Amino acid sequence: MSGDRTNLLGLARAELEAFVAERLGAKPFRARQLMKWIYRRGAADFSVMSDLKQDFRTQLAEVAEIAVPQIVTQQVSQDGTRKWMLRMDQAQGIETVYIPEPDRGTLCISSQVGCAMDCSFCSTAQQGFNRNLSVAEIVGQVWLAHRELATQDGSDGRRITNIVFMGMGEPLANYRNVLPAMRIFVDDLGYDLSRRRVTLSTSGLVPQIYKLAEECNVALAVSLHAPNDELRNELVPINRKHPIAELLAACWHYIDQQNGRSITFEYVMLDGVNDKPEHARQLVRLLKGRPAKLNLIPFNIFPGTRYRRSPPAAIVKFRDILNQNGVIATTRRTRGDDIDAACGQLAGRVKDRTLVRLGTKMSALRVEAPLP
Ligand code: SAH
Repeated sequence: MSGDRTNLLGLARAELEAFVAERLGAKPFRARQLMKWIYRRGAADFSVMSDLKQDFRTQLAEVAEIAVPQIVTQQVSQDGTRKWMLRMDQAQGIETVYIPEPDRGTLCISSQVGCAMDCSFCSTAQQGFNRNLSVAEIVGQVWLAHRELATQDGSDGRRITNIVFMGMGEPLANYRNVLPAMRIFVDDLGYDLSRRRVTLSTSGLVPQIYKLAEECNVALAVSLHAPNDELRNELVPINRKHPIAELLAACWHYIDQQNGRSITFEYVMLDGVNDKPEHARQLVRLLKGRPAKLNLIPFNIFPGTRYRRSPPAAIVKFRDILNQNGVIATTRRTRGDDIDAACGQLAGRVKDRTLVRLGTKMSALRVEAPLP
């Protein structure tokens, strides 16, 4: 919202209907027309909305706006992956990534400026945490990518068929804003995606998984990364609060409740850390006979990390042990790593507010210059 104008981007259908009724005395179908313009046609300007009366458009522009984040930079990888840095304020930016494949186009979006989960192998964690994104800032990433993909040269056939919350941030730690954004993604007047094509990935916030099971039915991915609590405590610190047994119970509940197919468990392959045959056998014991799929992610390196990627042969062997023992496992192909757009490489620009509390981290010395 700027001044007293309401940002219509991200308003739920019912909220938009209430807004046009209360502020403009208009019928509910006006809200539906507006949604089609905003999401399907990517309009940001009321003046182009030709099936709305001129008077109505003028009135709208006085009380409302369609405000989207601003693009700071765009990078295109050799493999066609695109990464946008979006301005969140003078000094901070978040990243959104588009990954084209022959049969689909996946948009990987962020839910927070930085992340507070502190997973030891993730570059976003090193940036620290600043704040949650608003609904408009989450939906705005899709709006912008949609527009950019449609308007750029050679855009033939490039479109968004899937949305994944696998960018910066822990989406379940921003539940309040992530849930309404997902509703826009699946609304037939919004982005009209099937619930199976919207994936929320979480490091394992157990209470929020139960809550989500009651309220939404998107696909769930869980960052497992270790087959036992000792190792997971080290890699994914939230495990100290919600250990593996508790997390898996929440996952199976989610599938029962949602009549879903399966949970995708993400597992980053770290050389000599979690990639031994014994780890694969432990995973089999946890997941065999369950509605689970494992997605092995070759570790993506970033400056300052102590980890290394598992060699290809170790990944193949690990995958074979799982598959031969009845657990479906696939390897995620690395995309966009030449532009630091691969999993765990999104750094954006974050003014870490956890430093104020902790006061000791070295990065407190980092100088924050304004974004261009
Ligand atoms: N916070 C959410 C979503 C963001 S990360 C979550 O934890 O699920 C998306 C996926 O990339 C997660 O599975 C994450 O653990 C993984 N990832 C993080 N850093 C990585 C790295 N350096 N290499 C490969 N995958 C990484």
